Order: sequence, then structure tokens, then C-alpha cells
Amino acid sequence: MSSTTRQRGTRTATDLLPLTGEPLALDLVNTTYVHGGTRGTLMDALTEPTELDDWLRSCLPRLGARLRPGLAALLDDLPAGPGHLESYLELRAALRELSGTLVAGAAAPHPALAVVNRTARLAAGWLEFAPDGGTATAHWTEPDLRLVALGEIAASGVELLTGPAAEQVRACPAPGCILYFVRSHARREWCTTTCGNRVRVARHSKRLREPAGPTV
Ligand SMILES: [Zn+2]
Repeated sequence: MSSTTRQRGTRTATDLLPLTGEPLALDLVNTTYVHGGTRGTLMDALTEPTELDDWLRSCLPRLGARLRPGLAALLDDLPAGPGHLESYLELRAALRELSGTLVAGAAAPHPALAVVNRTARLAAGWLEFAPDGGTATAHWTEPDLRLVALGEIAASGVELLTGPAAEQVRACPAPGCILYFVRSHARREWCTTTCGNRVRVARHSKRLREPAGPTV
């Protein structure tokens, strides 16, 4: 189903994601999340190839400008297959593992590094003059543009986790939350205000339950 034919008002798993707008690599990691706090349910926005296409549509504005038109047309013309979903889930697992080891200050596991490196190569491309000589056309080694996009997301992960922003990557400290974010400002403590509010409410009710100290 294309975005243009989607019934108005139908919410997709992508629409329900609690946190988007982080670097693409973390947005992919954050397609799994816990709904409902510490006793919540593990949710996955990428369980079907159609959900992958919904998510990719939401990412289009942030993918490379040269990739965007062709990928948008592909998303409308040809649905993703199970192999695409499998490749995205493999990268997601590797990026989650690497984000986790980064925030823990631990050594990056080689299998996860190998997955990200191999996937990043899918983004390899070049420009050629069009026959008129005045314009350029983009070409990629990988003919499947969904996989080129996957390569761009992997490359964005390498850039994020090795670049200056790596120091600001955080695992949300709210109990039960599994989301990652880049601490975009000094006062940002939680992935979302929902997590912040949940923790504040829990602290408040804990204080109410605890017996008051002796009064003087
Ligand atoms: Zn959180």
C-alpha cells in the first residue's frame, strides 16, 4: 500500500514509535521499544516487510538527496520482501549491540562491527555525466535501492559511533526503557518527556509510600 493510497487516519507501527528524529542509525535501533514502562510490553515496529516500507517512507527526507527520488518511486512500485526485512533487522541488532557497548565503555564486539561494515559498503556509489553533459546521474554498486538506503543507515551509524557525537549517545536510564538517543542539550536526561514524567511520578509515589521521618 503506498502512502498515497493509505486510508486517511490509519496509523502505522511507525506512527506509534515513541522516539524518532535521532540519527538514522539510532532511529533504526529504536524501532524496538517497551510500551508501558517497567511492566510494559516489548514492541517491534518492523515485523512485516510492509512495516519496513512505512518506516523507510518516514526516513526519506533524511536519506541522501540522490537516493531519495528513486527510492520513493521504488517504495510505491514494488513492496519490500522478507529478505529486505531480514537485512534491516540484522543491521538493527548490530547497531543496538554497538550502541550498548559504546555507552557501557566496553569493547565493540567484532561480529557486530563486521555486520555494520559489510552493510555500509552497500551505499557505495558515484556520479556520471548524463548524455547532455549538463546534468549528472547517480549510480550505485548495489542495484537494490532499499539496500543502498540500508548502506546509508549503516554508514551513518559508523559516523555517529566514531564521531564527535558518540560521547553524547545515551541509553535512556528510565526503568524498563530500551531507547537510545543523542543528548542534544545538557538538560536532556531521558529519551522522551514520557519517560521523564513516568520516572518523576514513580519517585513522587515512592515518597508518599515511605513513612515520614521524625519531626522535631
Ligand atoms: Zn526512555
